[in-house]
Amino acid sequence: MRKDGRGVCDRCSQAFDYHLIHNGFNESCYAYCGACGMTALVDTLYEDRAAEGLPRHRQITRGGEELLASCSCGGAFRAGAGPRCPHCHQELSAPAATEWIESNSPGAVQGWKWQRNWDGLYAIVIEGRVYRNPLREGPDRRTTRSSRSSAPGRLE
Ligand SMILES: [Zn+2]
Ligand SMILES: [Zn+2]
Repeated sequence: MRKDGRGVCDRCSQAFDYHLIHNGFNESCYAYCGACGMTALVDTLYEDRAAEGLPRHRQITRGGEELLASCSCGGAFRAGAGPRCPHCHQELSAPAATEWIESNSPGAVQGWKWQRNWDGLYAIVIEGRVYRNPLREGPDRRTTRSSRSSAPGRLE
């Protein structure tokens, strides 16, 4: 499991592993489950779907909630939701996380600053709990597209 370091819950003071995802390098947008805090990453490489609520390189907006499948816990990925402590299940404070995120980041020495929110460029994955491309129509839509573009006789 990828790990950038140990975070500490600002509510219960217990520690957990985490890593950050740079959604620009990853070409994705992301969301957190409103119930359990699981991280969802959605590829944004092939098309700009900002108008549908899947903007590039940041958290989804309201429209994007409808496009995402349910979390494995039965909850829903929500715009505005944040990651949760795996111990007490309370939502973590993004400003409070600054202390451990910056102290674990080699870049902080050169002046890198944590964004202090849960909707900017970086997403966080707690204890490896990440769900990739949980799109409701994802597999069907991709299949349709690839079968169309690979149709015989089509020149591209
Ligand atoms: Zn969940
Ligand atoms: Zn906690």
